[in-house]
Amino acid sequence: MRIAILGAGVSGLTAARLLLKGGHEVTVYEKNHTIGGLARTRFTDGYLYDPHGGHILNSKHKVVMDWVFSIMPKDMWQFTERNAKIFFNGKYISYPFELSLCELDTEDAIDCVHDFILAQAGEEPGNFRDWLLWNFGAGIANRYMIPYNEKIWAYPLEQMETQWMRGKMPLPTKKEMIRSMLLKNPRERKMPHSTFYYPLHGGIQSMVDAIAKGINIKTDYDIERIVKSDSGWIINNEMPVDRIISTIPLPELPKIMPLPDLICRNIQDLKYNSLTTILFSCPETNITWLYIPSHEYRSHRVGYQSALTPYACPKGEGCGALEIIGPQFDVSPEFVKQKSILPEELGFREVLDSEFTKYAYVIHDLNYRENIENIKTYFARDDTFQLLGRWGTWNYKNMDLCMLDAMILVKSINK
Ligand SMILES: Cc1cc2nc3c(=O)[nH]c(=O)nc-3n(C[C@H](O)[C@H](O)[C@H](O)COP(=O)(O)OP(=O)(O)OC[C@H]3O[C@@H](n4cnc5c(N)ncnc54)[C@H](O)[C@@H]3O)c2cc1C
Repeated sequence: MRIAILGAGVSGLTAARLLLKGGHEVTVYEKNHTIGGLARTRFTDGYLYDPHGGHILNSKHKVVMDWVFSIMPKDMWQFTERNAKIFFNGKYISYPFELSLCELDTEDAIDCVHDFILAQAGEEPGNFRDWLLWNFGAGIANRYMIPYNEKIWAYPLEQMETQWMRGKMPLPTKKEMIRSMLLKNPRERKMPHSTFYYPLHGGIQSMVDAIAKGINIKTDYDIERIVKSDSGWIINNEMPVDRIISTIPLPELPKIMPLPDLICRNIQDLKYNSLTTILFSCPETNITWLYIPSHEYRSHRVGYQSALTPYACPKGEGCGALEIIGPQFDVSPEFVKQKSILPEELGFREVLDSEFTKYAYVIHDLNYRENIENIKTYFARDDTFQLLGRWGTWNYKNMDLCMLDAMILVKSINK
């Protein structure tokens, strides 16, 4: 079969590699000059930088990890235990906050424990803000959960649904919280993403490049038009193909192919946010991520690239990428040094690089389900044009789930 794949991110490349192995003729069309999509890496002055956010790998799906290690052997990866912290009232509190209440000042801790014990009474609310208050109680919700989520989504929490976060957010029970208080032992290991792999050399780009080996990829490719003819799907003036797999963001599709008005409206109504990351040098640290819930600072999170592999930057140095949600803005060293961006205590030294990501996080607003169901139902009518990936299916998916979905899709094609 001749198959075209739109987008050379993790989803498109995984599908392409598996289809190639199945004997199909595959071409990947990528608009950018480089491949990898959100999972890219570059080095600036010898400092490792994943410009769309540090990309670590972990999965509860053994089939995914086995597949990755079959392409890039395990000894090429650094295995790390997450050491995430929350910058709260000038202190570094262990992650997750709910299991580290013993590290708070006494009055804060008492409020949080008291409210958590009384939480989860009455009916479970359907909107995210009320759900945070309902699930964690006002103590934890108002100090940490609500301000942090307001920053990372930059979208009214009362207009978001709650289904998306299962498996994404740590949701400890009251019993686990009480145990952690009594034993003063945050049980982080039980939480999602508590251990992970990251390539020793070359950043996450080296995984992407390994997957892409042998695949026919047309980069810098501008898709102007896709039409279906009697002989198959035609992209621009290329040879017809039997099948298209699209991993590009859904809002790109109405620009290049005819779609019914209702589906165009559903697509237009999908919500997302954008991200700026700024790479900076700093003193060496073993913190992997730092969450910054306070609205005093614009950045909500710092991902320390230097904690992912010992080869991320010059010895004895550290580097991190701070993240800010919102529209694109000019990044200057003066901008980052403002006190309102990052806590001074982090020891920020120099801006090294920055990048804007238009499509960062899918926002699961209250219209999300209806919009996405209509879109999926429409595309399901013709199985020669299939949707795949984080933005192709508009779903909060990490790389492992993108790979898993690609595996399932290719299996269905090979049947
Ligand atoms: C800040 C942040 C941090 C993250 N951290 C992690 C992490 O630590 N671990 C993890 O597993 N996952 C992480 N993720 C999620 C991860 O990035 C995604 O799951 C994965 O990279 C999505 O791959 P994809 O191929 O589906 O989409 P993308 O990576 O978006 O790929 C789509 C491709 O399509 C191309 N494209 C777009 N429009 C067109 C067009 N018109 N024509 C042709 N090509 C086009 C794009 O250039 C891109 O290459 C993170 C995401 C973000 C935003």
